[in-house]
Amino acid sequence: MKKLCIVVPCYNEEEALAYTNTELTGMLKKLTEKGKVKKDSFILYVDDGSRDHTWERIQGFRKEYECVFGLKLARNTGHQNALTAGLLTALDFADMMISIDADLQDDISVIEEMIDQFEQGNDIVYGVRNRRDTDTFFKKYTALGFYKLMQAMKIDIVYNHADYRLMSKRAVEQFSGYTERNLFLRGIIPLIGYRSAIVKYDRKSRIAGESKYSLNKMFSMAFEGITSFSIQPIRMITRLGLAIVVCSILAAVYAFISFITGKVVAGWTSIILSIWFIGGVQLLSVGLIGIYIGKIYIEVKHRPRYNIEINNLMEKPHEES
Ligand code: UDP
Ligand code: MG
Repeated sequence: MKKLCIVVPCYNEEEALAYTNTELTGMLKKLTEKGKVKKDSFILYVDDGSRDHTWERIQGFRKEYECVFGLKLARNTGHQNALTAGLLTALDFADMMISIDADLQDDISVIEEMIDQFEQGNDIVYGVRNRRDTDTFFKKYTALGFYKLMQAMKIDIVYNHADYRLMSKRAVEQFSGYTERNLFLRGIIPLIGYRSAIVKYDRKSRIAGESKYSLNKMFSMAFEGITSFSIQPIRMITRLGLAIVVCSILAAVYAFISFITGKVVAGWTSIILSIWFIGGVQLLSVGLIGIYIGKIYIEVKHRPRYNIEINNLMEKPHEES
């Protein structure tokens, strides 16, 4: 049996928290009674610099429930950072961690299944949405577009998985080695590479309050995701440059033939050729420089080069019989 911590990032969630806390503490009690998790398992609310009474609510719960703890960030740093703060703070106190949004759109009844999967040796268990019936038309399609775009950019993310997941202590430890500033957890976690499983659930609508992800935040999330994980856009520029250089060579042949057959106005050939060729060479050069910058970018992240799953050297030597 293991000690569980449920990490809940909260930004201006005063309306949702009362319900959320009742549900989560209830669930934790059930899990303890069933013997699924240790008695001292707990919930950690991370107040991401809220401007409403979120922190007062959390303090209230803290007084009332032994299993509730709070972490207050000095200012609003965004969902991904708040979640990371919670996970890394809880690291020394728990054996496994589940992250879930404060609005309980994600079905908490699958927590038990997540724990079962963990017990079966999975270090990461992704919560994956079955359907998106409750999302608005707009949210549904922007989200779909997001996953398709990520795929096109060759970024490995779990389809229809947001930040509802279980991670073992050692998975979070490995995650702490990814020290980059622009965080995109959904892209990083699969990079850890430990054994993982998927648990499906139906996503509900928000219990209270409004989505804290405005269209603006959604776009910047997608942009962060792409530019933090992929130098694909730079490659595309390079390819385009190459294609134009090739075109300009074809154009050269055409222009040359036109010149010989004498069907052109004087000067046309040289102008057309310079425009195409120089344009192509420029784009190609920009792309090549971009590739080097891309490499520098990847280097400065100082991501771990590998994560060891099992190390036999750490085992005790075989006893001689
Ligand atoms: N959140 C946060 N900081 C922010 C924005 C959001 O901690 O700057 C939290 C928010 O309180 C919620 C979770 O991140 O628990 C997801 O936000 P939301 O439910 O608004 O996103 P959606 O489900 O609409 O994508
Ligand atoms: Mg939500």
